[in-house]
Amino acid sequence: MTTQETIDLFDKYVIANYSRLPRVIVKGKGCYCFDADGNKILDMFPGWAVSAIGHCHPKVVEALRKQAGELLHIDNTFYSEPQGKLAKLLSERAFGGKCFFCNSGAEANEAALKLARLHTSQEKYKFITAEGSFHGRTFATVAATAQPKYHEGFLPLLPGFIYVPFNDITALESAFSDEVAGILVEPIQGEGGINIATAEYLQAIRRLCDENGAVMILDEVQTGMGRTGKWFAYQHFDVVPDIITMAKALGGGVAIGAMMAKEEVAASFVPGKHASTFGGNALACAAAVAVVEAIEEDNLLENAARLGRYTKDKLEQLKQKHYIIDNVRGVGLMIGVQLTNPGTEIVDKCLQKGLRINCTCDTVLRFMPPMIATKSQIDQAVDILDTVLTESAK
Ligand SMILES: *Cc1c(COP(=O)(O)O)cnc(C)c1O
Repeated sequence: MTTQETIDLFDKYVIANYSRLPRVIVKGKGCYCFDADGNKILDMFPGWAVSAIGHCHPKVVEALRKQAGELLHIDNTFYSEPQGKLAKLLSERAFGGKCFFCNSGAEANEAALKLARLHTSQEKYKFITAEGSFHGRTFATVAATAQPKYHEGFLPLLPGFIYVPFNDITALESAFSDEVAGILVEPIQGEGGINIATAEYLQAIRRLCDENGAVMILDEVQTGMGRTGKWFAYQHFDVVPDIITMAKALGGGVAIGAMMAKEEVAASFVPGKHASTFGGNALACAAAVAVVEAIEEDNLLENAARLGRYTKDKLEQLKQKHYIIDNVRGVGLMIGVQLTNPGTEIVDKCLQKGLRINCTCDTVLRFMPPMIATKSQIDQAVDILDTVLTESAK
């Protein structure tokens, strides 16, 4: 099919709830993807942070082939091996909690909110979330998302969500009450523009939850699975949450989400309280097991940390040269370049030159390279951005 033929199919048959670039991607391999017109794209924002170990990682592809020949899906009436194995691998790399599996980030957060409600007393029904957050598009998670643009057209929202400024301990303390079941934040806000929590802030959340029997939930959907150079971003901050949620990179490109809770909190999910038909299916879990193994066998945590510092340095050097760059911030391979002007056009121009990055919050360029990237691929990406910024300044 030609690019235009595919676009015509979408125009006729696919709901237009996304604004799409006029490119049809037909293949992905490592740090690259390829479009139907034969263009090769250096992908520094692979699958919106999903393909974090690169497109079509051979170990994931092999695990999928093998599992597909054995068992694709069996419902949760039975046990299945990949789900048990994956839960053990994740538990050992986080705080030793127990897992519930689902199919997306929003579902993982839904599960976390429901579990926190069940685990606390009936008077506690409120949740505190932070301005600039993003937690998903379902009704509960859109209410948790403290950004008005995601609420437009959906009022009244699910009640009980209280929004506070991010990283503001005083505001958090004054918003807190006996009615609060939990506090949900991202350790590093992704869609909100790469805003990094302070250790003091996360520790204040921990203290408030401990003192009042509330549940501390960290949304690691974007930050988890090694993106920041550690398995989970909370591990940078000397704090242990009660619940973490993950999705995006977890399945290496296959749809899977997970919520992990400390054992005493997890115990509130008894049969009948929550479920997902596809949650924990054999195929998705086999892919995620391969992701964990690939990250360890290929030393990708170390690479993410090292390459992250390298990328940030290189982008900071660009700042000397281009007035439009205000600052560069990030942890590991989760990096934002704060511009003084809107960046959408810059992203489009980079794509024309074969580089994919992203722009969020209008003025923040997002670099989230695959953890398998090399220095020379980073050099190439930064060179393209440099060229585009020079041309745009004219
Ligand atoms: C992407 C994202 C979600 C939503 O995940 P979906 O799989 O799209 O439902 C939730 N939280 C954060 C932090 C995200 O980045």
